[in-house]
Amino acid sequence: MLEATPLLSTTIEQEIQIFDGYTNLAGSPHCSVRKVAPYIMSIRPHEIQQGAKTLGIIAITHGNEVLGLPIVNRLIGEILAGKLMLSTEILFAAGNVPAAQAGKRFIDRDLNRSFALNSNESAETIRARELETHFFDHCDYVLDLHQTIQPSHSPFFFFYYFSQRQFEFLNAVNPGLPVVVTLNDALHGQRGQTTNEYLKNQGKVCLTIELGEKGFFTDKFDLGLTIAKKMIAAVQNAEKTSAPMTNPERLLKIEVGYRVQHPGTRLNEGWRNLQEVVKDQLLGQSDGGPIHSPISGYILFPKYAPNPAIGQELFCICKQIHPNELPNSG
Ligand SMILES: [Zn+2]
Repeated sequence: MLEATPLLSTTIEQEIQIFDGYTNLAGSPHCSVRKVAPYIMSIRPHEIQQGAKTLGIIAITHGNEVLGLPIVNRLIGEILAGKLMLSTEILFAAGNVPAAQAGKRFIDRDLNRSFALNSNESAETIRARELETHFFDHCDYVLDLHQTIQPSHSPFFFFYYFSQRQFEFLNAVNPGLPVVVTLNDALHGQRGQTTNEYLKNQGKVCLTIELGEKGFFTDKFDLGLTIAKKMIAAVQNAEKTSAPMTNPERLLKIEVGYRVQHPGTRLNEGWRNLQEVVKDQLLGQSDGGPIHSPISGYILFPKYAPNPAIGQELFCICKQIHPNELPNSG
């Protein structure tokens, strides 16, 4: 039978319920389950090797990037059924459930800019600390499942580059997608840290996968599931094998984080993630004049919020580089 639209037949409410149901299980013949905090659970095989690394997989860090949660639920289902065998502990988290229920990116402030703030000022800073204490601080590796606001030319990895070891790990997981790296904490211009920055500061590997435009798309579900399984395998083999060094098809480095400078700022319609732009190309308008691309490269995270505040990030531009241009990659 032909499907009219390539969507999973599910809702975010249903997926939250399924995840919550799993956290309250004791386990299965294959593994034990423990609820460690609200919407955070641990799954362990009954026998675990000394020195095994712990993997964390987190979905809905942004509440309306829904696809990560059915991916997480499918993984948990397969592990409980013994279809996916573990030799290491995996922690699973649903990041921002209230925002997901409200169909929003966040409630008070962006959870993915709220780490390391150690503050009770908002629902998200409180949740950030809960995730730090019960999730991130126990993980050696983390996979953070996202989707983009705007359409994308291709799904892509996004991560905070800090070591060649981490880059090689990504190559073991990457099924051929473009890789976007950032080297700069200050680009997003906000006080709190992202998952990538928070884990980088602990010397841990965090990979963010952007699975295309937000929604329950079946092809991106399959892709996300493949990546998560490759990540599980890579973590389980982390100490045994060194990943073959194959460079990503496209390696992009964020060069520009453009912030709103004038009232009335708006991007022209239709920018897609990873769309090519040339220097001085017209990108948008503001009361202070037209906005041109400061460099040639690829536009990333274009935003279309009405009346964006001065200082808010409007878009990024990244530039293709060779892996040997990364620091300490020699
Ligand atoms: Zn996101």
